[in-house]
Amino acid sequence: MSRVYNFSAGPSMLPESVLSKAASEMLDYEGSGQSVMEMSHRSKVYDKIIKDAEALLREVMQIPDNYKVLFLQGGASSQFAMVPMNLMTKSGKADYVVSGQFSGKAYKEAQRYGDCKLIATSKDVNFSRIPDLDPETFTPDADYFHICMNNTIYGTCWNTLPETGNVPLVADISSCILSKPIDVSKFGLLYAGAQKNMAPAGLTVVIVREDLVGEPMKGTPTMFNYGEHINAESMYNTPPCYSIYMCKLVLEWIKNEIGGLENMEKINVNKANILYDYLDNSKLFKPCAEKASRSIMNVTFVTGNPELDDKFVKECTKRGFVNIKGHRSVGGMRASIYNAMPTEGIEKLVEFMAEFEKENG
Ligand SMILES: *Cc1c(COP(=O)(O)O)cnc(C)c1O
Repeated sequence: MSRVYNFSAGPSMLPESVLSKAASEMLDYEGSGQSVMEMSHRSKVYDKIIKDAEALLREVMQIPDNYKVLFLQGGASSQFAMVPMNLMTKSGKADYVVSGQFSGKAYKEAQRYGDCKLIATSKDVNFSRIPDLDPETFTPDADYFHICMNNTIYGTCWNTLPETGNVPLVADISSCILSKPIDVSKFGLLYAGAQKNMAPAGLTVVIVREDLVGEPMKGTPTMFNYGEHINAESMYNTPPCYSIYMCKLVLEWIKNEIGGLENMEKINVNKANILYDYLDNSKLFKPCAEKASRSIMNVTFVTGNPELDDKFVKECTKRGFVNIKGHRSVGGMRASIYNAMPTEGIEKLVEFMAEFEKENG
C-alpha cells in the first residue's frame, strides 16, 4: 500500500490510525454485528456514539456549559443563511467583514434576511491579508458580527480577534477548528463544515451560546431552526451518522495520541514554519499572504510564472504530493496542511521544492 501526501483544501487527509480503526470496525462495530453505517440512529449503540462525540468535542475544545453543540448537515454554506435566520431577530442588523470568498458568500446570503453592513474588506489586495478595522464603524446594536476565521482559499487567518463588546462574535471556523485552542467564550456562535479538519464531508458542527437561540425569523424552515435541533439533541431527523462516528475517532486521536489542542498547535506551527521558512528564503517561490495574516492551515505561494507553476504542480503529483494546485482566484499553489498532514509530508515537499528550484530557478 502506498498513500500519497494529500494537500487538498477539503475534503482532506484523515489520520491514518483513525482510518485503520474505522476499517477494523467496518463490518462489526463493537460486537453489534453491523457497521455504524447500517445501524439505526435511534439505537442504544448509536446513541452512545453521538453522545461520546459531543462529550469529546466539549472536552477537547473546552466548550463552556452554556453553549450547545449541534451536529447538522448542509455544510458551512447552509450556516450562511441559518445564522441570520436565527440570530438577526432583534435589531435586524449585522456586521460583516469580507476577508475572502466564503465570508463574501456569507455576507451576500445574509443580505436576504436583514440589514447587513460591510465593515471592511481586503478585496483590493486580493485578500492577501485580514483587513484593518475601525471600531468606530461597528454597529452598536447589531445582532452579531461575522468573520471567517481562516480563509481557506487565500491562506490568511485572524491572528487577533475584533473587539465587538456586547455584540456577539460569529465565526466560520471550517478550516481551522481543532487546529489550536480557541476561547469559545469569546464567541456567540461558531460553525464549521467537518471535511477540513474533523471528519469526512456531510457533517456541520455548530457551537452556540444558548441565550442567543430564540424564535427564528418568520418562515424559517424547521430544519433551519437551531431551537428545533437543540430540543431534539441533533436527532430531529437522521443525522450524518457515519461522519459523526468518524469525528469521534478524530477527537479520540487528538485527545489520546496528540495530547490535546495545545500539542496540536505546537505540531501545526512547526509544520507551517518549515514551509514558510523555506518560502521566505526561496528565490523562486513567493508566499502570497502577508506575514501578520498567515494561516497555519493553508499556505499559498506562486513562482510568478504560471507555466512554471503548472510544471511544479505536475511534478508534485508524480511524486505523490497531490492536490497542491492553488484555487483559480489566487493561482499558483496552495498546500493545505491540516491536522492529519504528517510533518514528514511537509519536510519531503520542501526537499522537493529545493530540488525544483535548483533545476528551474
Ligand atoms: C470549505 C469552506 C466552506 C464551505 O463549506 P461547505 O461545507 O462546503 O459548505 C465555508 N467556509 C470555509 C472557511 C471553508 O473552508
